[in-house]
Amino acid sequence: MGIRQDVLLAGFLLSDGGITARGKESWTIYFRNKDKSVIEEFQKTLIEACGKRGYITKRSDETLFIRLHSTKLANRLFSFSKSYRTKACNTFPVCRHLRGKRSSCKIYGTQKIDGIEYPKAEIPKQVFKNKKLAREFLKIYASCDGGISVVPARNKRGSLFLVRKVLISVKHPIMSEQLTKLLLNLGFSPVRYKDQIRLIKREDIQKFKEEIGFIKDAKVSNNSKYLSGYEKNKILDMVIDSYRNPQELLNFLLKIRFSNRLSRD
Ligand SMILES: [Zn+2]
Repeated sequence: MGIRQDVLLAGFLLSDGGITARGKESWTIYFRNKDKSVIEEFQKTLIEACGKRGYITKRSDETLFIRLHSTKLANRLFSFSKSYRTKACNTFPVCRHLRGKRSSCKIYGTQKIDGIEYPKAEIPKQVFKNKKLAREFLKIYASCDGGISVVPARNKRGSLFLVRKVLISVKHPIMSEQLTKLLLNLGFSPVRYKDQIRLIKREDIQKFKEEIGFIKDAKVSNNSKYLSGYEKNKILDMVIDSYRNPQELLNFLLKIRFSNRLSRD
């Protein structure tokens, strides 16, 4: 038990989980993911933080769901971030406080950014003071709400090249700003897009592999057209190698695309 585990737990919850009100006083901490390795890492962190493993259920779409009722742990987590909901309050499913129900927004208030109401979610301040913790935090965040992407593209002359990036998806404008700042603090040159932060330079992708990486065995999700099911760290290695030898990765991607097309026909 210690502050490190709590901060890392916050990383899991801000990306793929949350804390929801239960009854009049208590809270439920939850986390969901389709990746068994990510679920195991979350559970390990949860046990280190509070000695409990939570209840796991599996949804019909194969998503694993962990729940833990713990007001004590929830209150500790609220000291890092006043909310663990990272979407605007009025996006689906609409925030509980807008339906008059008890929620972190109702207790801690909300913030308006460009006229849109957001929960007071933020990156724990502790990660800005400790680079090792910052790297561990980003590894979790990037494994849950981020990844590695590489797609073949054609230039004007018709020759193939690779578009490579490490990305973190984040909708909350304050959190996007903070995650960008955190990457800058660690010596990266992140590029901010709407809802996404990207590392696109060779040096940055190399540095990400050496200093951060993804949770061991974490797989690329179904959202990826080509690489779904492959290990994120394996693809990261292939992307790094491709700067020396692009043809190998190009052939690999074209082969996947070809077999995907066959399986669709
Ligand atoms: Zn709200």
